[in-house]
Amino acid sequence: MEEKNKNIDISVIVPIYNEEQIISELYDRLQKTVSQISENYEFIFVNDGSKDHSLLELLKLSEQDPRVFYINFSRNFGHQIAVTAGLDASNGKAVVIIDGDLQDPPELITDLFRKYKEGYEVVYAKREKRKGESAFKKVTAKLFYRILKRITAIDIPLDTGDFRLIDRKVVNYLNQMPEQNKFLRGQIAWLGFKQTEVLFNRDKRKYGKTGYSLGKMLKFAMDGITSFSDKPLQMVTKLGFGLSLVSFIIILYAIYSHFVLDRTITGWTSLIVSSMFFGGVQLISIGVIGEYISRINKNVLKRPLYIIEKTNCQMSTMHNRK
Ligand code: UDP
Ligand code: MG
Repeated sequence: MEEKNKNIDISVIVPIYNEEQIISELYDRLQKTVSQISENYEFIFVNDGSKDHSLLELLKLSEQDPRVFYINFSRNFGHQIAVTAGLDASNGKAVVIIDGDLQDPPELITDLFRKYKEGYEVVYAKREKRKGESAFKKVTAKLFYRILKRITAIDIPLDTGDFRLIDRKVVNYLNQMPEQNKFLRGQIAWLGFKQTEVLFNRDKRKYGKTGYSLGKMLKFAMDGITSFSDKPLQMVTKLGFGLSLVSFIIILYAIYSHFVLDRTITGWTSLIVSSMFFGGVQLISIGVIGEYISRINKNVLKRPLYIIEKTNCQMSTMHNRK
């Protein structure tokens, strides 16, 4: 990889989707915190197809402060891809990923950096409390991370988003991972290195609303599972064997009942119930296989991961190959 510029000590990557009201406050708080760590910083804002005036705000900032960079996507590509683009563009020896809605307090970067200085290569911010989020979101998130932990071999930290600081070494490896379905927190766990956590209370969103619709959340969960586990496929196989065994026993019983007990099992109900049951199981199984095939398909197509409409960053071409 060509050596890019410079002596940037710390890069901060912020994905932005409809955050116009908060951008200036976000910038102020980031600037205050990060400039205490080093004056050689860069902020990389990735505008992920916002429908509001986020881009204008970012352009304003980048004119005021030469250390502010922006990447404007041609449309909404999703949070994980926005962060990936930021990683591609970053130069810092340490790189911070933080949400743009101030749910992740910028002031915590000081603590993340302190741990980094102690020699950790990945310092992630672990949510002790989550304020102002729906019970549904909290429960599903809790459940998801616990299921993920059970079915994957790698140690993905519980209750942790992408808010974290990572060392350049780790960023370089991350940027070389070619997969199209990004699940960064899993990929970073997979890479290893010395990792540690810092606890924090997640604030509630001040303005706007979540950009993670239920659909996006489901896709994200699916990506996490299929990227790091083959368990669903094995479960389908086991289910098949189990059900075959059960049906075999029922067949034996039916024969026994007909010839020995002289009582033939009859009826529409038993037929319909069993055929619907097996129909359902088969469709689910095909769906599970389909999820994996769709991943293969995406990776075979090798489309660029994102399209940039405009930027003032120098991009490496890993993910946006021409
Ligand atoms: N975001 C994004 N693209 C999207 C959805 C969200 O870049 O399609 C950004 C958003 O602006 C925020 C971060 O990703 O900075 C986290 O999103 P959000 O706050 O909507 O998720 P939640 O905190 O509700 O999980
Ligand atoms: Mg949020």
